[in-house]
Amino acid sequence: MAKDRLTEVLERYEAVIGLEIHTELTSLNSKMFCGCPVEFGGEPNTRVCPVCLGMPGALPVPNEAAVEATVLAGLAVNCDIALWSQFHRKQYFYPDMPKDYQISQYDLPFCSGGYLDVEVEGDAVCERVDRSGDDEYTTRIGVTRIHLEEDTGKMVHVGGSEGRIAGAEKSLVDFNRAGTPLMELVTEPDIRTPEEARRFAQKLRLIIVTLGVSDCSMEEGSMRVDGNVSVRLRGQTELGTKSEIKNMNSFKALHDALAFEIVRQADMLDAGEQVVQETRHWDVGAKRTSSLRSKEEAHDYRYFPEPDMVPFAFTEQWVQSIADRLPELPDAMRERFMATWDLQKYDATVLTSDLAMAEFYEAAIAQAGAGRAKTVANVMINDLSAHLNAAGITMDESAVKPAMVAELVGLVDDGAISGKQAKAVFSEMVETGEMPSAIVEARGMKQVSDTGAIEAVVDAVLAANPDEVASYKEGKTSLVGWFVGQVMREMRGQGNPQVVNQVLKDKLGG
Ligand code: ADP
Ligand code: ZN
Ligand code: MG
Repeated sequence: MAKDRLTEVLERYEAVIGLEIHTELTSLNSKMFCGCPVEFGGEPNTRVCPVCLGMPGALPVPNEAAVEATVLAGLAVNCDIALWSQFHRKQYFYPDMPKDYQISQYDLPFCSGGYLDVEVEGDAVCERVDRSGDDEYTTRIGVTRIHLEEDTGKMVHVGGSEGRIAGAEKSLVDFNRAGTPLMELVTEPDIRTPEEARRFAQKLRLIIVTLGVSDCSMEEGSMRVDGNVSVRLRGQTELGTKSEIKNMNSFKALHDALAFEIVRQADMLDAGEQVVQETRHWDVGAKRTSSLRSKEEAHDYRYFPEPDMVPFAFTEQWVQSIADRLPELPDAMRERFMATWDLQKYDATVLTSDLAMAEFYEAAIAQAGAGRAKTVANVMINDLSAHLNAAGITMDESAVKPAMVAELVGLVDDGAISGKQAKAVFSEMVETGEMPSAIVEARGMKQVSDTGAIEAVVDAVLAANPDEVASYKEGKTSLVGWFVGQVMREMRGQGNPQVVNQVLKDKLGG
C-alpha cells in the first residue's frame, strides 16, 4: 500500500488503536495447571495429561512460577498488583479447547493500570500530525491490565485452502500447547499510528525477554499481537467502531495490517458507509485484511469464578519480593550505557535493543578497555549488524566473538592495521572465526608505519610522475589524494595512511 495514502488519511482522520498481546511463558518448566512440559513442537499429543486434556474430574493446580512471572511483567510496565485476585472460567466451544472452557481471569486480574513510554521516530507516514517536524517523540501508552490464562491446543487444517476451516477436508488437533501459561496484556486505546503500535510491541517484547519469562517469538507464536483499530474525524471525541485484526506474525505485519485497516475504514467513511464491528484476518501475501466473523456471532462467555481454585491473596511484602527480582530494564540499561561509555543516544539504543547485543558489547569493552567504547560500538553497529542481517543469523549463531572485536579495534587503534584493512580482517573473521591477529599474521597484512620505508616509496612515486609533481606545485593540491593512491598501490595497501599523507606533504612542500 502506498505510504502517501496513510499520510493523507491521517491528515483528516485520527486512528485509535488498542493492542491485545498474548505471551506464552515459554521459559517455565511446566504448564499452567499441570506438570506437563512447556516446549515448542514435538510429536503431536505427547505432552499431555488428564488435566490439560480436560478429562472429567481432573483438578487444576496453579503454576506458582507463572503467577510470579505475570506479576513481574506487571511491575515492569508500572501496573498496580491486585492483592486479591482470582481465576474465572470462560465458556466457549471450540475443538482446540478440550474442557469447553478456558481458565482465565475476568474482573480480578493480577495487574492493572500500568503504562509504557514509547519512543517513536516521526517519519512522514507515522508521526502524529500535530508532531510534524519532530525527529522523535515519546508517547505514553496505558496498560489496562495483564492477566494469566491457559493457551489452547492447535488446529491443523488438512486439504482445501490453508489456514481456514472452510474448504479444509479435515481438521486435526494437537494438545501439546493446551494449558501452556499464557499472559495477556491489554492496552488502552492510546495508540495513534501503526508505527506507535509497532514500537509498543517491540518494546514490550524486549522487556519480557529481559525478564527471562518468554522467548517472545512472533514466528513461532509465543508472542501474538491482535490489533483493535478505529478511525474518527480529527476533532471528534467519541470513538469510532473498531475492527480487530488477528494473525499478524511479525512486527512488520502488525504495522502493515493496521495501516491497511486505517485506510480501509477511512475510505468507507468517505463513501458514506459505516464500519462494522468485526474480527478481521491479515493476509500477508495479499497484503489485505478480510472478515473472519462479525459481532453478530460474538460470544457470551458466561464467566464465573473457577470453583476448583481458591482466590489469591497476596501480601505487600510478597509483591515487594517480586519487585526486588526485577532486572535492569531496557530504558535503564540504555541510560547506563550512555553514562558509563559516553555513547550517543542512538548508539546506546541500538546496543540495548537486543539482550545478546548488549551482553556482547559489555564483554568486548571488558577486554578492549573503556577508552575504546566508541570504536567497539562502531564496529558492532556497522560491521557486525550488517553481517548478522546479511547472513540472517543471530548473535549467538555468528562466529564473531567479543574477544575478536576487542582485538580488532585494538589493532586499528595501535596503528598495526588501517581502517580499510580492518574491514578485510572483519570479513575473514566472519568466515573463519579466527582471531584478527592470526588473520593479520597469516595474510602479511601488517600496516607499514615505518617512515623510512614509506619515504622510499614516496620518492620513487614522485620521481616517476614529474608532470603531476609540477601540477601540484602550480597549485593543484587536490592531487595529493592521487599520490596517496599511487603510494598505497605500490605498498599493496599496507602503508599507514596518516604517515603516507604526512611524508607526501613534507616532500611536496605542501
Ligand atoms: P472488546 O469488548 O471488543 O473485547 P475491549 O473494550 O475489551 O473490547 O477492548 C479491547 C481492545 O480494544 C483494547 O486494547 C482497547 O483499548 C481497544 N479498543 C476499545 N475500543 C476501541 C475503539 N473504539 N477503537 C480502537 N480500539 C479500541
Ligand atoms: Zn498436562
Ligand atoms: Mg475484551
